[in-house]
Amino acid sequence: MAICYLGLGANLQQPYEQLRSCLAALESQPDLELLDWSSFYGSKPVGPQDQPDYVNAVARIRTELAPTALLDCLQAIENQQGRVRLRRWGERTLDIDILLIDQLQLNSERLTVPHIEMANRLFVLQPLAELAPELQLPDGRLLAPLIAAITDQPPLLPLGKPARHQLENPAAS
Ligand code: ATP
Ligand code: MG
Ligand code: MG
Repeated sequence: MAICYLGLGANLQQPYEQLRSCLAALESQPDLELLDWSSFYGSKPVGPQDQPDYVNAVARIRTELAPTALLDCLQAIENQQGRVRLRRWGERTLDIDILLIDQLQLNSERLTVPHIEMANRLFVLQPLAELAPELQLPDGRLLAPLIAAITDQPPLLPLGKPARHQLENPAAS
């Protein structure tokens, strides 16, 4: 059984709702347990600048799935929510990246864990630190100094955190 952290991002078709649907989809997966999630945050795009701002969050899950099976499951959710790959770091309805799987380090054709860019991205580190302030990366680095070292990215815009009962049916809340 592994504890994993997932980085979620969206900037098309009501990104806040995309992330909420993503959490609902994670919650309904038989092979994993959605434990908690961070607030949602607005962020500026990385890569091409001619695309809408993003909404980002981090989720904590527990799963028995092997890493590549977990990736398959997450990519299926991306596809269900209309993910189309147009250009590198381009706009998308939903991105789910595997940030951490326990203290595992792995590098295969399909999967690099920890996520190769996570230590450089405020939109990953800040929600992750909200969920797990004392977390250490497998190489021993702590989140707070990594966040403090990022001086080239604008502050994130806090957008609130949906409660569990708000994940499923936005119209009812
Ligand atoms: P970035 O990874 O820089 O955030 P991205 O999320 O836009 O960019 P994607 O198009 O979602 O990139 O994924 C491209 C490929 O990255 C996937 O097909 C997957 O095989 C690979 N990949 C490698 N490591 C990971 C990881 N830790 N989590 C998710 N995908 C990964
Ligand atoms: Mg990504
Ligand atoms: Mg991705």
